[in-house]
This record gives sequence, C-alpha cells and structure tokens, in this order.
Amino acid sequence: MSTISKEPQLLEHGYEIQNLVVVDENYSTGAEEVNSGHDEVVNKLKNKFKGFKTDKFLAEPELFNKLAKQQEPKVMLISCIDSRCNPTMLLGLEPGEAFVVRNVAALVHPYHEQVRHLEHENGIGAATQFAVSVMNVEHIVVVGHSSCGGIKALMSRDDFTTDLVGGWVKIALPAKKKAHLHSHQAHHNGELAHHEQMSVAEKEAVNVSLKNLLTYPFIEERVKDGRLQIHGMHYDLTEGKLTCWDIVPRK
Ligand SMILES: [Zn+2]
Repeated sequence: MSTISKEPQLLEHGYEIQNLVVVDENYSTGAEEVNSGHDEVVNKLKNKFKGFKTDKFLAEPELFNKLAKQQEPKVMLISCIDSRCNPTMLLGLEPGEAFVVRNVAALVHPYHEQVRHLEHENGIGAATQFAVSVMNVEHIVVVGHSSCGGIKALMSRDDFTTDLVGGWVKIALPAKKKAHLHSHQAHHNGELAHHEQMSVAEKEAVNVSLKNLLTYPFIEERVKDGRLQIHGMHYDLTEGKLTCWDIVPRK
C-alpha cells in the first residue's frame, strides 16, 4: 500500500492536491474519485496504464528489468505535439528505443540563439546535447505533418509578437518564404496553390529545424565524421503517407 497522506495537501494559494493514487495491476477507480466527479478521461488514462502494466510490463519482465537499469536508444525524434502525429506509434518504436521531444511544429532554434538566451532554454538544446553527447544516438529525425496548426499559424500571420504561439512558430519564417516563392513560380489556381503551399511550408519547416540542428557544434561534428545521421520526415495524415529524406554533407 502507498504511504501517501489522506489529508488534503496545500499546493499554492487556493489550491490543494486531491485524488492522489498509485496505479498498478490491482488498481480500481476509488469511491473518492467517483464521488468527486473525477473526469472520465483521467480514469481512462489510469485504466490504460493498468492495462500496460498487465499486458506489457508484467508480460515482458526481461525487457523491463533491463530498461530499469539502462537505456541505449539509437534514435532521437523531434516531432509536433499534434495528437494525430504520435511518432513512436507511427514508427513502431518500443520503450527504450527513442528519445522524443515534441513541440508546436517540431521546431528547433539555431544554436547561437539558445546560447544567447540560456535562461530561456526551451528544452530542445538540453535534450539534443544529452541524446547526442552523452547517449551517443546515431540518428536524429525531425517529423512534420500535414494539417499542422503551427504551420497554419506561421502562414496566416504577419505579426508574431502577440502571443506565445507566434513567438515560437516564427523560427520557421524561412520556410514561409520558400513556400511563397514556390507558389509564385508554380502559377497554379488558388485552391491547389494553397494546398501545395502548405505542404511545401510543412516540409521546409522540417528543413529549417534540420539546418538549425547543424548549427549545434556537437551535432555538426558528428554528422561530418559519420557518427550521426539526420533525417526529415513528413506524415500526410489524409493519405497515410510518410515522405522521408536524409541530409548528408556534400562531398
Ligand atoms: Zn503540427
């Protein structure tokens, strides 16, 4: 049994902790949770974890004993937060096989901006440094996707100073420029041009992140000497297609 206190605990002014439980294979929704109108969605998450414990964790003791002691992932994924683009599910990766960083539109700041504003580090710099320099991952994959809300925000706005999303997606402004150039050259009709322009912007935003990754000295060095490979992917969630490409040093 857990040793967690039953007394309400104060968190911050006006807030307290409730429904504190430990979920394992013996878990069942408590009367306290039901009485407090505990959300069905949260109960579903807890029951899903119970299923994971029973069907995977307890069914594969060798794997999970090994993972409890160490991890040796070969891959780092950087993907969008979009609920339809879950990269480990799409790419069939199991626990222990990949580091995953997710943010709006799978974007990466250039190294010099991260270093200049260390106090505002957004987590990607630290994650890549740990994955590459400490854990020696051999591949970094940036995964973009169709119907991306972040890229829609990038393409539809002119002012990026009014909120947090704007301040973030402006990292991909070079992709917006390329998409405009592409549609300018293509001379398609309006509807097709818009669809193609979005697709170009989504893929070019992945390239912006890949290009920015190469500004990190510990990444550039390993890409040049062959210890690390970087790749782009774009998931078309209407067609169910994955476009994949590699970035390699010019010989
Ligand atoms: Zn997205």
